[in-house]
This record gives sequence, C-alpha cells and structure tokens, in this order.
Amino acid sequence: MARLVMKFGGTSVADIDRIRNVARHVKREVAAGHEVAVVVSAMAGTTNRLVDWCREAASLHDAREYDAVVASGEQISAGLLAITLESMGINARSWQGWQLPIRTSDAHGSARILEVNGAELIKRFKERGEVAVIAGFQGVHAETGRITTLGRGGSDTSAVAVAAAIGADRCDIYTDVDGVYTTDPRVVSKARRLDKIAYEEMLELASLGAKVLQVRSVELGMVHNVRIFVRSSFDEPDSIDPHAAPPGTFICGEEEIVEQQVVTGIAFSKDEAQISIRRVADKPGVAAAIFGPLADAGINVDMIVQNVSADGATTDLTFTVPAADYERATGVLNGARAKIGFERLDGATDVAKVSVIGVGMRSHAGVAAKAFKALAEHRINIRAITTSEIKFSLLIDANYTELAVRTLHSLYDLDK
Ligand code: ADP
Ligand code: ASP
Ligand code: MG
Repeated sequence: MARLVMKFGGTSVADIDRIRNVARHVKREVAAGHEVAVVVSAMAGTTNRLVDWCREAASLHDAREYDAVVASGEQISAGLLAITLESMGINARSWQGWQLPIRTSDAHGSARILEVNGAELIKRFKERGEVAVIAGFQGVHAETGRITTLGRGGSDTSAVAVAAAIGADRCDIYTDVDGVYTTDPRVVSKARRLDKIAYEEMLELASLGAKVLQVRSVELGMVHNVRIFVRSSFDEPDSIDPHAAPPGTFICGEEEIVEQQVVTGIAFSKDEAQISIRRVADKPGVAAAIFGPLADAGINVDMIVQNVSADGATTDLTFTVPAADYERATGVLNGARAKIGFERLDGATDVAKVSVIGVGMRSHAGVAAKAFKALAEHRINIRAITTSEIKFSLLIDANYTELAVRTLHSLYDLDK
C-alpha cells in the first residue's frame, strides 16, 4: 500500500466526461489499496474567465477580492469530482484551502504556502478509507482569515505541498502531455519525453517558460524531497497497471540520473520586454538610481547588459522586464529621469527569451558558443545574453522564437 497525491489540471477536468475519466483514475489507485488525496484545478478556461471578469469590473481592483473571485473555479471542480467519486461507490470528501487549512502568506494573487495541515486527511484515510479531493490554487491567510491564491498554475504547488504534509510516497501530476519533454512538444514536434530530470534543471525550465509545472512546486519538491511524477491524464484509466511503471517523467535528485546529457532541455518565453536606456551617465550610483525605483515598484528585472562607455562619460544600458510590467517600468523610469539622467529610452515588446538548460554545462566548456554560431547561420540576431552555471539565455526577436528553439534542439542532439 502506498500513499499518493494525484493532481489533475484544467484540461483534465474540462467537462463532466473528463471528470468521470479522472474518477476512474482515482478508482484504480483506490482499488489497488492506496490512500489517495486528489488535487484539482479549475475546469479549463474557467480561471481565465474569472480573471477577465475582475478586469472588466475595474481595471484596478483589490487583490483580496480578485482572490475571492478566482479561487471559486477550483471549488466547483473539487465538489464535482467528489460527487462523481461517491456515485461510483468511492468514499470521498472535498476540501477548500481554508478548510484543511492550507495556510499562506498574505501576498494575494501570488501567495506562498506556509503550512498545510494533513492530520485530518490521514485520520480519514485510516478510519473511513476516504479519498480527499482538494481544491488546488487556493489557501487562507491565517491572521485575516481571507482566501488567497497561489499564482497562475498554482495547483501544482498545492499538490506538492499536500504530498509533503501527508508524507506521500509519490505526487503524480496528471496533465495533457505524458511527461516533461526536451522542449514544449506543442511547438517542436521532435521534442522527446525525458524519463527523469533533476530538480535543478526542472526549476530552470519552469522559471524560464515551460509551464508544465509551476516553479514553486519544483522548489517545494526539492526542499521536501517529494517524488514528483508527470504523466498523462488521457490514458485509458483501466488499462493502466497500478503496480507497473507508466510512461512519464520523474523529477528527482541529480545523483539518480545515470546517463547525463550536456543539454537537457530548451525553454522559451515571449512574455518579455526589452528596455534600453541611452546615454546614461557612466558613474557610480547610476545602476542603483535605475534599478532601485524598479525594485520599489515590485518589477522584476532579468537580463542586464551594460556597454563599456566609449567616451568615458555616458553609456547604454539594456535589460528585460516581464511584458506585463513594461508600461509601468517605462513610467517609473521616466518619472525618475531627472535623478538618473539619460538621453533617451527605447523599448521593445516583440522580443523572446530562449534558454538552454543542463547540469552537464558545469563540466563542459563552449556550450553557448556553439549556439551563437548556429543562430548566426540562420541570421537570428542576439540582443542580450545571460549565463549561469547550468543554463544560458538569449534575447531575440519574437518572430524567430520557433526557428531558434528548433535550431538549438537539433544542435544539442535533442531530436529523436
Ligand atoms: P495543466 O492544466 O494540466 O496544469 P498546463 O497547461 O499548465 O497543464 O501545462 C501543460 C502544458 O505545458 C503542455 O500542454 C505543454 O504545451 C506545456 N509545456 C511547455 N514546455 C513543456 C515541456 N518541456 N514538457 C512538457 N510540456 C511542456
Ligand atoms: N486554475 C489555476 C490557473 O489556471 C491554477 C492551476 O490551474 O494550476 O492558473
Ligand atoms: Mg498547469
């Protein structure tokens, strides 16, 4: 007997038929004698609609009320799955974030999980053989008692946090692809499924654009040593042997990966904007004058490139911010113009960041240099570069994203 968390994303619970399919997956594991906690997302499209309604009601709105609205999607799917399970003769009960509770910070809209109480769930596994159906994405702030949400894609994080809290043997993330691929399989048809990927690599893939897992879920998994397994919810539930290893990807420690490639995967993100500050004074304190106000405004700055000044007096500085923060960032900088002192501010939102990831880069030189040459041959211009121990990222024109990803995918032998 094992204790399992089974998480199902939006497309997996998109309608009643799919919820029935999910229930059959759950039934299979229960019949195999396992203790099961299920975490569900809102039905596909629901959260987007709720977010749109908030914006329509008022473009600037209280984040506490945003959470009150958007958390409701998961309440519906949790209740529907519990009803479906009961109708199939399986003991089940739904749980909202505040009922468990899943305690979070008060950062409404992107709250962090502080603590999950799994005691009641375990008691019910033992006493009633009851399946817990938990609404993902939501929690509660202990002091105010208000509902919080964990940021888009947050049900993954709910699942891993519940797995840690109940000491689950495995956290299965059922989704609309059958594992983690070398790059987004919807964009590159030659993408290959990975049997295993190290936490650190998955962390980079997720934070650099692969939305198959929310970044925070990977962090939590790494800290609490949760065995995360990404697999498909669209396989025929009854044809799966609950005791055999199904197709999917294990997120695990680096030491568990025997055949290590130099490059493991490629991520990309079009949600980037570039800002260039022209002819800014080249003197101490200027970077602080620029990035201080951006940090105060809660804007995350990513790639930073500063030219060496030619005349010793002024220089150009380029960096990226999330596309959603572009207008706000230029507003902040123009507001601080007198203090910073620059000639001109240029920006572009039609840019994309392509990142190459692999723990093997630690021990191999010249990995990035190969990419520069290959992209140059396709006449793809690189606007900015950043590197770290296990990844490098390139900023390019958004039009070339797919071409660049495919080129790099072949270059690093990731094609079949
Ligand atoms: P869910 O609703 O189940 O949470 P998501 O849409 O959040 O599912 O995440 C799954 C999607 O992630 C896939 O459909 C795929 O397009 C995308 N994706 C991006 N990069 C990858 C990758 N490297 N491997 C697998 N899927 C990826
Ligand atoms: N329903 C939420 C979203 O769409 C959370 C999730 O699906 O993980 O972002
Ligand atoms: Mg998701």
